Amino acid sequence: KNGNPVAENFRVEEVNLPDNINEGQVQVRTLYLSVDPYMRCRMNEDTGSDYISPWQLSQVVDGGGIGIIEESKHTNFTKGDFVTSFYWPWQTKVILDGNILEKVDPQLVDGHLSYFLGAIGMPGLTSLIGIQEKGHITAGSNQTMVVSGAAGACGSLAGQIGHLMGCSRVVGICGTPEKCLLLTSELGFDAAINYKEGSVAEQLRELCPSGVDVYFDNVGGDISDTMNQDSHIILCGQISQYNKDVPYPPPLPSAVEAIRKERNITRERFLVLNFKDKFESGILQLSQWFKEGKLKIKETMINGLENMGAAFQSMMTGGNIGKQIVCISEETSLLSL
Ligand code: NAP
Repeated sequence: KNGNPVAENFRVEEVNLPDNINEGQVQVRTLYLSVDPYMRCRMNEDTGSDYISPWQLSQVVDGGGIGIIEESKHTNFTKGDFVTSFYWPWQTKVILDGNILEKVDPQLVDGHLSYFLGAIGMPGLTSLIGIQEKGHITAGSNQTMVVSGAAGACGSLAGQIGHLMGCSRVVGICGTPEKCLLLTSELGFDAAINYKEGSVAEQLRELCPSGVDVYFDNVGGDISDTMNQDSHIILCGQISQYNKDVPYPPPLPSAVEAIRKERNITRERFLVLNFKDKFESGILQLSQWFKEGKLKIKETMINGLENMGAAFQSMMTGGNIGKQIVCISEETSLLSL
């Protein structure tokens, strides 16, 4: 419950797949796997949420994945289909019940299949729907947005989407000077703060002269000082708390909670999986912005199933820029797309 996850929490085993697959099943080759902050909660016996179950000791770990069908005994799928699931076992090849899979269209991502685990997948939907549902952005009303965890999978998109939806100013908070530079030079953020250097509160006061109207919070940082009357916190995540035995969402310190109430700042729990009816249109919107060049996509790619644990550890400690992905095997037929 308390402690930092490390690569040594995971081990690799070699086993043979069964010779035959049953009716309703498919055999897939894994192309890419995702490592995500919520997985830290799956390392606790009590994950703190009904929507995710704990990983079991010495059982295969699962999470977001994408792959290609090699053999199918399920009516919805044929050999060569690209498929994804939120419950993909960390295996190079796997026999799965076809019912947990969804087909994806490589054209939506111009052949970059890994984007279905990032910008054109769950993290992208989280940023888009989080802002739509909890951000209360009105184009043309001169709003300022602050994003924490701003150089990560959700944060790097949230800042860009904030601009696309009409915020006049977007400021990112992240953990290295390189990340700050990326935000302002490539991703269109107006300013960036390295939270490891100097006072975040002071820098925010300087960089947000009209105060903050929307705070897309991935981390759990307190920026109450600069939040405007009737402003909104998009409670996306609290990664700074995941290695500690605390409830989710962690209650705000009493002085901060007092400011929140006094200024009528909303801070409602947000969970992307509660908005499944918006996924299809959301994916189309994200894909369109990507194809129009309006949404820049960043990812950090690590190779090899044996490096899943290291990739997870690295993401939890800021080693990634954009979405952290592990390439398990590449799909060469896509090069002709
Ligand atoms: P990510 O931002 O790509 O990766 C995690 C980042 O968190 C790291 O790169 C690191 O960047 C930062 N970090 C780690 N420890 C920190 C600390 N103590 N203080 C400040 N920053 C820290 O991960 P992601 O997948 O996009 O997820 C971001 C957040 O969104 C997480 O809190 C996650 O749980 C949440 N999320 C929520 C939903 C939902 O439905 N609500 C869905 C998806 C994700 P730095 O170098 O900047 O420290």
